[in-house]
Order: sequence, then structure tokens, then C-alpha cells
Amino acid sequence: MKLSQRTIDRLIDEAYKASKRAYSSYSKYSVGAALLCSDGKIYTGCNIENSSYSMTCCAERVAFFKAISSYDVKPQFSAIAIVGLDENLKSDTYCMPCGACRQVMSEFCGEDFTVICIKNKEDYKLYKFSELLPEAFSAQSFI
Ligand SMILES: [Zn+2]
Repeated sequence: MKLSQRTIDRLIDEAYKASKRAYSSYSKYSVGAALLCSDGKIYTGCNIENSSYSMTCCAERVAFFKAISSYDVKPQFSAIAIVGLDENLKSDTYCMPCGACRQVMSEFCGEDFTVICIKNKEDYKLYKFSELLPEAFSAQSFI
């Protein structure tokens, strides 16, 4: 699905807003994600850390789990925007999804799902999901 500039800008704004809700006491790295469903709804997520570090959940997975748990029928997804900010609310790098989040995306997204990795509001990269996790492990791997 081709995203309009207006939609991209909206997702970026929502990702920034979500990053403000991050619980990132340990890393001080606040991540926000805005996930667009094919029906136009947007679900946001932020990273939620824990003193037992492995219990931490990424912003992207929070957004996916919020969306999936909100529908009676599994939703279709079009795009996600992701931003990560340091303590000074700055970012010098594009915020890329971690391997765990890519695997979760592979469960619920098609190859043309768009991942918007934000450095700042004027500088971001768009990826097709298939570029970020080629040859993904999936249900087709064992059926
Ligand atoms: Zn992640």
C-alpha cells in the first residue's frame, strides 16, 4: 500500500507523542511507535522497561499487542512509524526495530508492510518489511 505524505506525517507525529509515555527508567531511551491498521485506525506503543531487564517490552510490540487485542478478527496492518529519543529528546540515528519485533511483525504483516524508521521529523527512512526480515521464520516454515 502506498502511503500518502499526510499519513506518513501523521504516523510520525503519533510516534513522537507515544515516546513521551515511555517507561525507560534504565536505558533513558524513549521509544514511540504508531501502527496503522488497514481500516485507518492507529495504535501507539512506547517501550516499557523493568528492573529485571528481560521483562522489558519494545514500543513496537506494545502497539501490535494493543491493536491485536482490540479486534475480534485479526486486523490487517499497513505501516508502523518508530522513533527513539535520548534524555535530551534528540536522536542521531534512525530507530530500527529489534529482531524480536521484526519476528512479531512477520507473524502479522505482509511483505509490503511499511516500516518508517525515524531519525527526526524531516529525516526518516521507509522500508518494506521484506527488506528488514528476509526469509523470515513463519508458519509456512513448518506446514
Ligand atoms: Zn523491539
